[in-house]
Formats: sequence, structure tokens, C-alpha cells
Amino acid sequence: MSQEIVLRTTNLGKRYKNRWAVEDVNLEIHRGDVFGFLGPNGAGKSTTIRMILSLIRPTTGSVELFGHRLETEREKALAKVAGIVEKPDFYLYLSALRNMEIAGALTLGKAPEKKRIMDSMALVELQDRADDRVKTFSHGMKQRLGIAQALLCNPDLIVLDEPTNGLDPQGMKEVRELIAQLSHEHGITVFLSSHLL
Ligand code: ATP
Repeated sequence: MSQEIVLRTTNLGKRYKNRWAVEDVNLEIHRGDVFGFLGPNGAGKSTTIRMILSLIRPTTGSVELFGHRLETEREKALAKVAGIVEKPDFYLYLSALRNMEIAGALTLGKAPEKKRIMDSMALVELQDRADDRVKTFSHGMKQRLGIAQALLCNPDLIVLDEPTNGLDPQGMKEVRELIAQLSHEHGITVFLSSHLL
């Protein structure tokens, strides 16, 4: 396995008023890893992920992505990172394809080519449902569509907060297999949180 460090956190901590949500988190994730960040509800997983994605500012410590410090080189640090925090949001009355176009335009600055969208949708095995409204999708399919949206920017690291939350056993299995596939077949490093071992 390559020793390149994709993500490193050093003494990362977040305090809300006089309460520490996260304290002294030191992580090192290498290229190609599927890293499971485990802990019970309230342990601080989402807070840590928000700091890694630069959605909130740490109280202590630092985050480094692909060798770039988030604090000082935010754009470079996040260039190859995609994340889903909480559950992905969709326009339920629009087709999956249209949702992908909109999500792509938001992240890339212009609507992605149809081939690129269809490649992402094929990866999550939703290519045959591209023209269906998202309203008709199961929870697991929506989760996979969210991952397809995240893939549009060709990330080297994908960060998922509780990707199997609320899924039935079959949905969980599909998402787990998809994550393994992203890592093994596409060389994407995956950081995911879960309260389930
Ligand atoms: P869950 O899976 O339930 O979301 P978690 O491990 O992701 O759990 P966090 O959501 O990171 O946990 O929350 C960690 C702690 O920080 C909790 O005690 C929570 O109440 C607190 N916390 C999180 N966000 C805030 C906030 N904006 N203001 C105050 N406290 C917060």
C-alpha cells in the first residue's frame, strides 16, 4: 500500500462554549485506505468531519489534506475532496439526471457532460434510472445517487458521514459494496463515520 498521507489531523479539537465536542483527534489516513471512524452517537464524529471539510473552524489543532494545510491552503487542500454530511438533498420532482446536472453545475461551475454524469451513475448502478424522478427512489438509491454526485468532481478522497444510517440490511450491503468498489477499482480513499461496528 502506498504510504502517501491523504489526510492527517493533529490534536484536532472543537469546543462549544465550555464543552468539548471533539478533543485531541490525531489521524493519519493513507491513499487507498477505507477508514472507518467509529463511535457512538454524540461522540463527535460529525463535528470532526465538518472540521475536515472546512465547514467549521477547529478550536485546536490542524487538518492537512494531500500535504496542504486547510487553514492556510484551503483551496489546494480541498481540490480533490468530496464529502456528504448528513443525508444528500435532492429536487424530488426532477429526474436523477437533472439532479446530477444541477449538483455538477454547483460544484464544477458548469453543467457536466452527459457522459460524465452517466459514468458516475453507472458506478453506483443507477444508470437505468437516470430519467426517473428521485421521488420514486428508495432511501438506499438516494444514498447512492448522493455518492454519484460526489464523484462528479473526480475526487481522490471521499468523506461520508454515516452513509448507511437508516438503510435496511440490503441497502447497507449495497452501500458497503459500493464503498469497497470505489477503493479497490477506482483508487479513491474513503473516510466514513459510523456508529455501527
Ligand atoms: P451523531 O452520530 O449523533 O451525529 P456524532 O458523533 O456525530 O454523533 P456530533 O454531532 O459531532 O457527534 O456531536 C458531538 C457533541 O458536540 C455532542 O455533544 C453535541 O451535542 C455537541 N455539538 C455538536 N454541534 C454543536 C453545536 N453547533 N453547538 C453546541 N454543541 C454542539
